[in-house]
Amino acid sequence: MGNVIENAMNKHEPAMTHNIPAQNGQNMPENAPAHTTLIGLDQGELGEALSHIGVKDKQVRMRVNQLWNGLYARGLTQFDDLHTISKDLREKLAKAYTIERPQIVTEQLSNDGTRKWLLRFKSDIPGKPGPEAEMVYIPEETRGTLCISSQVGCTLNCRFCHTGTMPLVRNLSADEIVGQVMLARDRLGDWPLIEADNKEGLPDSKRMITRLVLMGMGEPLYNFDHIKKASAILCDDAGINLSHRRITLSTAGVVPMMERAGAEIGCMLAVSLHATNDKLRDELVPINRKYPLEQLMQACRDYPGLSNARRITFEYVMLDGINDSLNDAKALVQLLKGIPAKINLIPFNPWPDSPYQCSDWAQIERFADIINDAGYASPIRRPRGRDIMAACGQLKSQSERISNRERKALLGE
Ligand code: SF4
Repeated sequence: MGNVIENAMNKHEPAMTHNIPAQNGQNMPENAPAHTTLIGLDQGELGEALSHIGVKDKQVRMRVNQLWNGLYARGLTQFDDLHTISKDLREKLAKAYTIERPQIVTEQLSNDGTRKWLLRFKSDIPGKPGPEAEMVYIPEETRGTLCISSQVGCTLNCRFCHTGTMPLVRNLSADEIVGQVMLARDRLGDWPLIEADNKEGLPDSKRMITRLVLMGMGEPLYNFDHIKKASAILCDDAGINLSHRRITLSTAGVVPMMERAGAEIGCMLAVSLHATNDKLRDELVPINRKYPLEQLMQACRDYPGLSNARRITFEYVMLDGINDSLNDAKALVQLLKGIPAKINLIPFNPWPDSPYQCSDWAQIERFADIINDAGYASPIRRPRGRDIMAACGQLKSQSERISNRERKALLGE
């Protein structure tokens, strides 16, 4: 498996790349054991953690509020800065717990301002480095989108997707999902009293992250419980306070979980569609063999809260000679009939040895015209961060799945 960072550096325009200096214990050794983190706990669990280190029952609620505010409203990275609590308690907290974010392995800044981080998560296996996944930030003039990962690797093998060529290593836990957002806010200066080290390309806006998309590595609906828990923390109005309507979860079409995503998480939905008939979709998005288009479209019609103000985004990657004919555009219009929808046309982002080419730009525009004329918004997504392999479908890390035998041997079972 190639190194995506090296590939980015060798095969594309040179990107400005710099390594991140040591900060707040993030440069832990590769083989650091898993820590007990307070990030990703709900308020009840945080209370239990405090009781565990001797906080009296009648103080727990107040301490939870102080911690919550410190962690999620102010973005503290060390207990020592939590001056609303006593030194003694700060020391007890630091001894028992951590509030570390994922470790940054590399940070890259694209010529267009897009930033990509390769992150290392906690290691579950003694002696093995933690698994790695990528996170991307896409700034625009007055807003910014953070694209995070939900799994390391993916099981779904979509043919146009670089991530799909690496095996699933594991799901990311709620703390690792929340931790990605917190880390991005650290680096972008998106906390009230913290400035970014490097402001190049950042939007002219009060908040740097105005939208969160779960479109990085992995299929979020195969990691439902952790995504749900993380979303609740991210949307809490006493903390990070993201709106559910500013979180978009992208699925390849895990039909049985779609209704729950709308009802229990309340996020916006994006569907990785890419084809208008089962024959082609079976090939491009193999989960279609399990949940074919008819079922997928019905699940979209049934998505809780669907309205013209809360439309489903359909992602459609433009593959030269594969799915980009004008008849495909007409079929797409037919397929989406009656569904409040927006269609994102994504020029294919090549990666090393990818089997497809990007459609011709004029053809993409003709395709978009047909969809527009039918009354659907169909923006053509401007490719971002191509020079650092940060664009849609290009993410991949070197993490390898560990075999059961290897895992048992390492754990001494
Ligand atoms: S497009 Fe998404 S679901 Fe498909 S292989 Fe890539 S990461 Fe997995």
